[in-house]
Amino acid sequence: MPEQKIKGTPLSQGISYGRSFLYEAIPFTKRSVEIRKEDVEKELVRFKKALKKTKESLEKLKESVKRRLGDEKAGIIEAHILMLEDPMFVDNIETTIKEGNSAEDAVFLTTMKIKSMFEEIPDPYLRERAADVEDVGSRLYRNLIGAKDLFLLDVREPLIVVAKDLAPSELIAISENNVVGLVLSQGGPTSHTAIIAKSLNLPTVSGIEMSLIPENCFLIVDGTKGEVVVNPSQSTLACARAKIEKLRREQREALSLKDLPAVTLDGLKVELWGNIAHPNEAGDVLSFGGSGIGLFRTEFLFMNRNDPPNEDEQFEAYRKTLSDMSPYPVVIRTMDAGGDKEIPYLNIPKEDNPFLGYRALRIGLTEEHLLLTQIRALLRSSSFGNLYIMFPMVSSIWEVRKAKDLIQKATCQLEKEGINYGTFKVGIMIEIPSAAIMAEELAKEVDFFSLGTNDLTQYALAVDRGNAKVSRWYDHLHPAVLRLVAMTSQATKKQGIELGICGEMASDPLALPFLLGLGLDELSMSPSAIPKIKRLVRKFRADTARRIAQKVLSMREANEIRKYLEEAISQL
Ligand code: PEP
Ligand code: MG
Repeated sequence: MPEQKIKGTPLSQGISYGRSFLYEAIPFTKRSVEIRKEDVEKELVRFKKALKKTKESLEKLKESVKRRLGDEKAGIIEAHILMLEDPMFVDNIETTIKEGNSAEDAVFLTTMKIKSMFEEIPDPYLRERAADVEDVGSRLYRNLIGAKDLFLLDVREPLIVVAKDLAPSELIAISENNVVGLVLSQGGPTSHTAIIAKSLNLPTVSGIEMSLIPENCFLIVDGTKGEVVVNPSQSTLACARAKIEKLRREQREALSLKDLPAVTLDGLKVELWGNIAHPNEAGDVLSFGGSGIGLFRTEFLFMNRNDPPNEDEQFEAYRKTLSDMSPYPVVIRTMDAGGDKEIPYLNIPKEDNPFLGYRALRIGLTEEHLLLTQIRALLRSSSFGNLYIMFPMVSSIWEVRKAKDLIQKATCQLEKEGINYGTFKVGIMIEIPSAAIMAEELAKEVDFFSLGTNDLTQYALAVDRGNAKVSRWYDHLHPAVLRLVAMTSQATKKQGIELGICGEMASDPLALPFLLGLGLDELSMSPSAIPKIKRLVRKFRADTARRIAQKVLSMREANEIRKYLEEAISQL
């Protein structure tokens, strides 16, 4: 097949190449395939084969989990293997096949039956095992259907995963393999899958139909241009290699400034911090020259497991991050699940508009025990470093007050129990337009704000951030978004509280003069973006940036603003 170039939407910068791996999500559901009496034996054999294969692959997975994540996590897989050996499970499936169901349907029906039995058990620990039952059942089901399981592949060659859509939790799971790039049909530039791809440095392009990419063919993914090349010619490949080398050189050059402060030519200092999803990433922030963490997305601690991390587990994650970063600040955001971040055991109902639904602080204020546990863990960790606690998705003052009441409740509990805690700051994300509009009032309630421009853009412009089809309408340089940012900045100046930004806008070089001009205290971004932004800050003058910000605020169209900013940057 000759070389073919396909245009898409750039989601995560960089270039890579490897073999395509088509990953399909298979819905776990009853297929209602009728079988004849004489087929029963055949179905039983198919089931036994799948059972053996699933056990073997789980054994492999257990070994790899043990190596990467330790014995405790491997114990979960061991429990799954035992479930496959449990006579109740196996006999039940065989009986259901004998009753005239296909092996797939028998696995589905039995899984659901046993799952609902677990769900009725009063003991919370046993009740939560329902999710394990479903996990094991769906694995067996995938094997019966013949679907591939990337997580279990023995991958030696670099792979480019091609998928319709990939949940953030799936991406984290598959990234353990030798995955070097992603091609997706769905997903906007600030979807959480894109954000995770950036932090994993995985070049990613979306808006590409899966059917256009053959299985196991050679691919180049250009996440900067938003292009995929199928079966590249030798010269195209040579060109891609040269570009990769150039990007590496630029990154090395920018990294040479790592230990210098981010200060403009006329002496304005701005803090450059990193966004992380896991305590292990604190090291990346430091090695890229960051001076703090501006966003720890703690919901990722809740993913790829069957129940929420308990207070001690959370305490350990926060303690480690704070001590690794000390004395630098660490902004830890309370769980922001929902939207495009599914956490099955939280039982968030299927919603027509999940981004407008049961998400983030709304969950914490409804199921207070979840938020209270997290706050207790945070307070306990506060003695180990410089803690900033941040609440996401605030739309009204009452929510901040309720969240602060919970902090108060947690401090009382800890004092009563004789448990120590240190000092900390409390802040909120400004990511809903109502919060930006009410910024002056909200600023009286907290110590700091952080602008979540990913959501602020989606809510101000009514554009789903995860929908590649409408990404043309999603633009954080839209004048309405910039005015909301400016309003927020004015409010913080007036009330004398700190202002940062942790949305993707912080790493957009075009937005830098505007943000510097408004006088933000801190810009937080994917750690690998810090060197590039630091280099730009050090080339700028604050008075020029202020002039640019004022000019931009008088403009009426995003295109006009973009052109003007491009010119300003090119003059550096
Ligand atoms: C944001 O909305 O800009 C933000 C930083 O939070 P998240 O991307 O996790 O929604
Ligand atoms: Mg957000």
